[in-house]
Amino acid sequence: MDKIKQNDSYLPDWVPENAGSEFAIRVVKGVEGANKIAPEAHRHSQNVGARYKQPSTEDLVKGVLNGDRTLLARTITLIESNSPTHREKAQEILKQILPFSGKSLRIGITGVPGAGKSTLIESFGLYLIKAGYKVAVLAVDPSSTVTKGSILGDKTRMEKLSRENNCFIRPSPSGGTLGGVTRKSRETILVCEAAGYDVILIETVGVGQSEVTVRSMVDFFLLVLIAGAGDELQGIKKGVIELADALLINKADGDNINKAKIAAAEYRNALHYLQPATKGWKTGAYTASALTGEGIDNLWNVIKTFEQQTKESGVFEERRKKQLLEWTFSMIEESLKDKFYSHSSIKEIIPIIKEEILNGKKVPTAAAEQLLALFFNI
Ligand code: GDP
Repeated sequence: MDKIKQNDSYLPDWVPENAGSEFAIRVVKGVEGANKIAPEAHRHSQNVGARYKQPSTEDLVKGVLNGDRTLLARTITLIESNSPTHREKAQEILKQILPFSGKSLRIGITGVPGAGKSTLIESFGLYLIKAGYKVAVLAVDPSSTVTKGSILGDKTRMEKLSRENNCFIRPSPSGGTLGGVTRKSRETILVCEAAGYDVILIETVGVGQSEVTVRSMVDFFLLVLIAGAGDELQGIKKGVIELADALLINKADGDNINKAKIAAAEYRNALHYLQPATKGWKTGAYTASALTGEGIDNLWNVIKTFEQQTKESGVFEERRKKQLLEWTFSMIEESLKDKFYSHSSIKEIIPIIKEEILNGKKVPTAAAEQLLALFFNI
């Protein structure tokens, strides 16, 4: 018998797209016409195969609604897939679970690498679980690829939290574009809610537009900072403070407590001059230690107060509605852009047009009009 060649194996569709090399599963293709060779063996292999085959839409919907983490993960894999069949199935599932979504508190968490976001998510997550909540942790990291590894991708992070039954952790989808990652994350939030998660923590790093994007999908946005690192180092000159509903000066422990308190006071002063991110809410600066857990209860109090106040004033619901519209129209823009740039005639002509523009042979407006006319067949 021939040896099985490397290219006779393939990755099955249920392998998460963002699975790294640790996901060592490859499936070897079956022998064609096996049923003719040994009908008994074929029947057996079909039964075995049935257990591993893609669950039906109905099974996935039921699984999600029952809070089954395996089926929830497989639903998210469908959401994250770029295959049109998977996306179609994912849309059908989303349609059915939609009435059961929306009930969580969505919290975005940002800060430069090293600020202590994952340590904070671990201790905050454990705190919430202890208080009786179910917690889902997601990440939005448009810079992540399968090989580079992403935030949350590292298994050693949030080790204790990941062992909790009432916790579900999902690394950032490798969507390529921010638009792709955004769609996948927003849909993932909905299925996690339908699966009964009360608090959704969404981690992001200060890369490009990712903070603005996460702000557009959460109710409360937390900026994690450290004392003495300098504003520029922490990327906060870019108006990130104005997106935040709270600033948390982390690592307020040991010798660092005073420095953290001073930093918090300074930020509090600076906040006076800034526009708050949420109407009617005063963005505050607090200290905490993700390592010792000090200040975590206060953070939760702040968030609960925010939720109560904004729900009473209607700002909470108003923001959610606005986000739905933003989501819709940003998807249209993204999809049009995708279709435009992947159109075969456009792909062919773009390098030529670029040359013409750079050589001064064509004015940008005329070039843009020509490309659009080609795309729309005008
Ligand atoms: P992230 O990149 O923002 O997710 O940061 P990590 O959570 O990976 O933390 C970066 C480093 O800071 C790690 O070595 C943590 O142990 C440490 N760290 C995080 N939170 C605290 C804290 O509250 N106190 C102290 N002393 N160290 C912390």
